[in-house]
Amino acid sequence: MKRYSVIELLQSEKTIEDITLKGWVRTFRSKRFIALNDGSTIKNIQCVIDFENTNESTLKKINTGAAIAVTGNLVKSLGKGQNLEIQVENIVILGESDPEKFPIQPKKHSFEFLRENAHLRIRTNTFGAVMRVRSALSFAIHQYFNHNGFYYVNTPIITGSDAEGAGEMFKVTTLDIENTPKTEEGKIDYGKDFFGKETNLTVSGQLEAETYAMALGKVYTFGPTFRAENSNTTRHLAEFWMIEPEVAFNDLDANMDLAEDFIKYVIGYVLENCKNDLEFLDQRLQQEEKSKPMNQRSDMALIEKLQFIIDNNFRRVSYTEAIDILKNSKPNKKKKFQFPVNEWGVDLQSEHERFLVEKHFKSPVILFDYPANIKAFYMRLNDDGKTVRAMDVLFPGIGEIVGGSQREERFEVLKEKIDVLGIDEKELWWYLDTRRFGTAVHSGFGLGFERLVQFTTGMGNIRDVIPFPRTPQNAEF
Ligand code: ATP
Ligand code: MN
Repeated sequence: MKRYSVIELLQSEKTIEDITLKGWVRTFRSKRFIALNDGSTIKNIQCVIDFENTNESTLKKINTGAAIAVTGNLVKSLGKGQNLEIQVENIVILGESDPEKFPIQPKKHSFEFLRENAHLRIRTNTFGAVMRVRSALSFAIHQYFNHNGFYYVNTPIITGSDAEGAGEMFKVTTLDIENTPKTEEGKIDYGKDFFGKETNLTVSGQLEAETYAMALGKVYTFGPTFRAENSNTTRHLAEFWMIEPEVAFNDLDANMDLAEDFIKYVIGYVLENCKNDLEFLDQRLQQEEKSKPMNQRSDMALIEKLQFIIDNNFRRVSYTEAIDILKNSKPNKKKKFQFPVNEWGVDLQSEHERFLVEKHFKSPVILFDYPANIKAFYMRLNDDGKTVRAMDVLFPGIGEIVGGSQREERFEVLKEKIDVLGIDEKELWWYLDTRRFGTAVHSGFGLGFERLVQFTTGMGNIRDVIPFPRTPQNAEF
């Protein structure tokens, strides 16, 4: 007897005899109707059993969460709510689930409660939908780059350079931390550590990716990234996944074009391929919005918002122009911002980014040409001598989703920047080599994968879009 998945059966154009189906019981009512889910789709399939011919002990074990196998026929349903259903001939309990103890009951649970049960929360509609969309986005990302001539590069997770992330990196060591070897000056002797030097988990694959772009032309990374920043926000994780394309001969305009085209493609892919899950998430969000005060509700439903992203150009605005807008904005004049905007040069906070996106432009915004001293050392200096070719893509509800730049390709300018910042040149000799040998204009960006999943699924907290979130004081599972 052939085994089918729920999605295959629900999409079937005709009735099918002699099928097998395995999955988990979502609900069981009237001793007759089992709603069965196997993860292949958000939809359950209705399995109708003949309870008079099913023994009592089996009936007792058809509980929410139990794994079962059914055999029978796919038939036209007479009831309302579904076109097809399974007429069950035989049912086998594969794995029992104690209804008193199984935490995931067929009722509404809070996301906080479900986070504590992250190993089981995936059995709910919401998390099933989110994780299927996450998977589809991931596939679309590889597909986009593959279709556009990019090579996938795997940059190291353990890194020996700490130039980028000073202070917010996780150390990697095999030294006995209770009894570390010391140098003559009494400092920890990392020469005795596994790698013979200090090492950390990477905060970005960019510097290594740049070396590959300078040979393969168009490359991207897609891997885990670690930041020991103590940001307890709804948008920060200590372990997250980042996509970092890097392209030789692209200037900042081409970089902005790439970011916009790329984001539109992957969101379009999900709209096309995850309809059932998005419809569910759209409904869920509308319910959630109803519990908020009127003035905090979003103007658009989820699917509408995704479509809006695809149909509209991202507004490109220089940092200088943005500062003018913010300085003269109502919330700034009425002292509503926690961080007032008084002068050119200040770093933008998430409240400012969200004002620009959600209130002022009412569309995604790409801010570019930031002050040099609030951005990283490798960004290309403009002729004005005070701004760099940086760009941040800002999204409604999320704030920064992409950070990128045109890179400083001029050896002398880069070298001076490194010296001024007091970064040891020896740390970056290999990076500087790319500017010594065949240097060229190049650009790239980093997109936080979970922020993209958050936006696409409408989930409010980044902890609910990654299977097992790592955050300060939390590494369960
Ligand atoms: P933010 O100001 O929001 O902390 P950032 O300036 O530190 O972001 P970048 O260093 O430019 O971010 O990293 C590139 C992208 O990675 C960001 O645009 C964001 O999408 C994502 N990102 C950064 N930090 C985190 C984090 N802690 N958790 C999840 N995603 C993150
Ligand atoms: Mn940050």
